[in-house]
Amino acid sequence: MRAKVLVTGAGGFIGHHLVRRLKDDGYWVRGVDVKNPEYEPTAADEFAILDLRRWDSCLEATRGIDQVYNLAADMGGIGYITSSHADISRNNILINTHMLEASRLGGIKKFLFSSSACVYAQSKQNTPDVVPLREEDAYPADPEPGYGWEKLFTEELCKYFRRDYGMQTRVVRFHNVYGPLGTFEGGKEKSPAALCRKVALADSGDEVEIWGDGEQTRSYMYIDDCVEGLTRLMASSHYEPLNLGTDRMVTINQLLEIISNIAAKKFRVRHDLTKPQGVRGRNSDNTRLRQVLGWEPATPLEDGLKVTYLWIQDELRKAGRVRAPEKRDAAV
Ligand code: NAD
Repeated sequence: MRAKVLVTGAGGFIGHHLVRRLKDDGYWVRGVDVKNPEYEPTAADEFAILDLRRWDSCLEATRGIDQVYNLAADMGGIGYITSSHADISRNNILINTHMLEASRLGGIKKFLFSSSACVYAQSKQNTPDVVPLREEDAYPADPEPGYGWEKLFTEELCKYFRRDYGMQTRVVRFHNVYGPLGTFEGGKEKSPAALCRKVALADSGDEVEIWGDGEQTRSYMYIDDCVEGLTRLMASSHYEPLNLGTDRMVTINQLLEIISNIAAKKFRVRHDLTKPQGVRGRNSDNTRLRQVLGWEPATPLEDGLKVTYLWIQDELRKAGRVRAPEKRDAAV
C-alpha cells in the first residue's frame, strides 16, 4: 500500500504543486494550511485548515500519516523577510518545533524540512560573481537575520531529532523557486513573479522599477524541477542538508531582460537604491546534489519564465488589469 503523506503549506506555491505530483504518483495525501490554494482547487484527498503554530493542530495534522513534507512557513520576498524578523522567527519556530515533536510522537517514518539558501553565511555572498555555495558554507553561522537563523536552527533541530530519537529527517535548501500558481503581488512575491507582474502591467517604453542596482545575482529553479527534487530526496537515504536549485547565475537586470524579451516589450529601467536587495550574489553548488540524487534541475530559465509570465499575464487579464494581446497589438 502507498504511504499516507502530509504536506504542510499545501495552500501555498510549492506545497500545492507537490500535492498534485504526489497524487499523480499514487499517494494518499493530506494537505494542511491556514488557507486554501489561491488559484485552483487542491488535488489532496483531504485538506484541513489548521494553524500549525498550535500544538493541537500539529497533532491533528500528523494523525495516521507515514511521511511529512513540512513546507508551511511565514515567508516572502526580500522586502518581507527584511522587515518582519520577529513575526517570521516566532511563527516558523513554533510551526517547525511542534511539527517535529508531533511527528515523533505519531511515529512518522520520514520528515522533510524545507530550508533555504538564506542559511548561508552572508560574508560568503558579498560579490555578484560569488563562488557557488556548498552545503558546508552555512558554517561558521552568519545567516540572513530572522528567516535564515530560524531555518538554520530548524536544520539543527532535525539533526537532534535524528540523533536522539532516530527520526528519519531530510533537509532541503531551496534556491529561489518560481513558476505558475505562485504569489505575484501583495508584498510576499519574489523577484521573478514581481518582475513578470511589472512587465505584464507596463507598456513598451514605460519605466520599470528594479530594487537595488540590479547587478545582484541569483539562480532560479522552475517549480517542476523543485517538486522532482523533493520526491527524489524523500526517497533517498540522505539526511544531511542538500542544495536544491540551479547553478545558472543571472543578475536581476538580466532577469528583467529575459522577461521583457518573452513579452516582446522594451522598457526604461529605474533602479531604486533605497529598497532592500539582500545578499550581493548567490548561487548553488550542485556537486552534492548530483552525487546524491543522480540528477539536477534542468528546465532552462527562459522556458520556465515563459510559462510563468503567461500565467501571471492571464491572471491579470482575468482581473481586467491588462488588455488582451489582440487589442494591445491593434492599438500599436
Ligand atoms: P508559500 O508562502 O507559498 O507557502 C507557505 C504556506 O505556508 C502558505 O500557504 C502559508 O499560508 C502556510 N502557512 C504559513 N503559516 C502557517 C501556519 N501557521 N499554519 C499552517 N500553514 C501556514 O511559500 P512557498 O514558496 O511555497 O515555500 C514553501 C517552503 O519552502 C517554505 O518553508 C519556504 O520557507 C521554503 N522556501 C521557499 C523558497 C522559494 O523560492 N519559494 C526558497 C527557499 C525556501
